[in-house]
Amino acid sequence: MTTDAVPANFLRHLIDTDLAQGAYSTRRWAGSPGGAAHHAQAPQDHAAIRTRFPPEPNGHLHIGHAKSICLNFGLAQAYGGVCHLRLDDTNPERENQAFVQGILDTVQWLGFDWQDGQQSCLYRASDYFEFMYRAACYLIEQGLAYVDEQSAEDMRVNRGDFSRPGVNSPYRERSVADNLNRFAAMRAGQLPDGAAVLRARIDMASPNINLRDPALYRIKHAAHHQTGSTWCIYPMYTFAHPIEDALECITHSICTLEFEDQRPFYDWLLGHLVQGGLIQAPPPRQHEFARLNLSHVVTSKRKLAQLVHEGHVQGWDDPRLPTLAGLRRRGYSAAAIRLFAERIGVSKADSWIGYDVLEGALRDTLEAEAARAMAVLNPVPLRLTNWQQVYGDQAVEPCLAPVHPQQPERGQRAFGLSANLWIDRDDFALDPPKGFFRLYEGNMVRLKYGLVVRCTGAVLNAQGEVTEVQAEIVPDTKSGTPGASAVKVKGVITWLSQHDAVPATLRLYERLFDTEQPGSGGRDMLQDIHAQSLQTVAGYVERGAALADAETRFQFERYGYFVADRHDHRADAAVFNRAVSLKDTWKK
Ligand code: ATP
Ligand code: MG
Repeated sequence: MTTDAVPANFLRHLIDTDLAQGAYSTRRWAGSPGGAAHHAQAPQDHAAIRTRFPPEPNGHLHIGHAKSICLNFGLAQAYGGVCHLRLDDTNPERENQAFVQGILDTVQWLGFDWQDGQQSCLYRASDYFEFMYRAACYLIEQGLAYVDEQSAEDMRVNRGDFSRPGVNSPYRERSVADNLNRFAAMRAGQLPDGAAVLRARIDMASPNINLRDPALYRIKHAAHHQTGSTWCIYPMYTFAHPIEDALECITHSICTLEFEDQRPFYDWLLGHLVQGGLIQAPPPRQHEFARLNLSHVVTSKRKLAQLVHEGHVQGWDDPRLPTLAGLRRRGYSAAAIRLFAERIGVSKADSWIGYDVLEGALRDTLEAEAARAMAVLNPVPLRLTNWQQVYGDQAVEPCLAPVHPQQPERGQRAFGLSANLWIDRDDFALDPPKGFFRLYEGNMVRLKYGLVVRCTGAVLNAQGEVTEVQAEIVPDTKSGTPGASAVKVKGVITWLSQHDAVPATLRLYERLFDTEQPGSGGRDMLQDIHAQSLQTVAGYVERGAALADAETRFQFERYGYFVADRHDHRADAAVFNRAVSLKDTWKK
């Protein structure tokens, strides 16, 4: 393996060991998910490993999910395996098709697919409901599950806590036949929501509370976006997830640390289903890694939904949100997000990652990618008063600049200099502070890629505001000509000529939250919202930038990296979002 391969992490060591020992080499794969019988006659699985990314389609994916996506799809790629995209749609209520589409688009945009050769490995947990029901019946038949009709409150109290063992339910000793009948009645819709649950029968005194007869099924009379009204009982996540993994022949089921305490149940359940011949051996194994915690943002779907629904931001893809749709609209490329995922690595210890690490990955990818262009964000006219003496009737002097200063092969961009320009208001001072090298009366500066001018003053309106800056061309100082270095100046400013500058809307973003951990310490996250996180300015950009396709990224010299907005940018109405400033402004 070469040295520039993906960095080592504990999961790779673990997979290396499993592969060396042939831990999964006897697995068969029938080309689609199923139980032991389904795979029994199939050939050995050609995929060295199978991983999966299992989002619940109840919201949009965020930067935390990107860590899991890059990890699961990345490991499958690295080992000649396959990563399944599984919609974990076992909850009828909060899920919908729009979220499903958003998830598919986002994973593809990040550069991954769920193909196994010609075959798509896009699966839905809801397709396994029938199998899950049979698995539950099997557990009942083995005396390993029972229908409990205690009230929710009794069940909670009787579960005990860390210092107190649980108390057995009065329904725990029901006969198998009785349990099968009650469970069938649950399925048939004869019981209202909450009247009963199916529970595993393990150990109410277990030190691991997750093994104190966990719930497997609950009653929920709700239509499901895939299965309609076929079901009124739905499997709990802890029961469903191991079965989903097993049916799909997953080898390494990678999840975040908070599921560590669920692993004994995962193994308990799959162990029994293997024993009963329902699923193929060896069963998948669960491995946990630390979730991504990113500073200055919130990533829980619930909190993101609140920000969207209460109008604190303008939709799920608002460029201030850490949703992947938002980051994309902000100007993040898939490559920047993959680089970020690589840099933060994978470990078993929880930690916080600074937002500057995410922005650093973006800057480092855009530095090479983004074409340069000029823009003026805060425009004021600059008039070159001696244009006619120098150029006579020539209205425009052509200028050239590299598309990218370090990549000459990308060619030159052409634009024109004329007597009437736009410059940034901040590049002129009536009363220059010490160390100000740009335009003030008597000072000379270079118009970048143009020539040297000497400032002669400014026109003010009745309110004392500058309405026009004036300067004279210093002849024979054009950039790229022998005279260019004859006159030494300390300041260089960017500009656009009024004849070919294109008006543009420029959106400048600040962080959405002021605090590193919004809403921590029991505060309401809304208290931490930054008052002015979006500033919209009317400016000008180079024609080439205005004509670019949506999602093209530029470095507007001196202002930062910008992207043509995915939704709003048009050639005749340019809209750019600032993705990131040129320098890190997060670390003080
Ligand atoms: P949320 O807490 O935002 O609602 P979730 O974990 O409920 O997220 P799922 O759709 O269940 O969202 O997540 C799909 C996968 O993404 C899971 O395997 C989960 O472990 C992973 N994931 C979610 N958030 C993070 C995170 N912050 N860091 C790493 N992985 C994550
Ligand atoms: Mg979840």
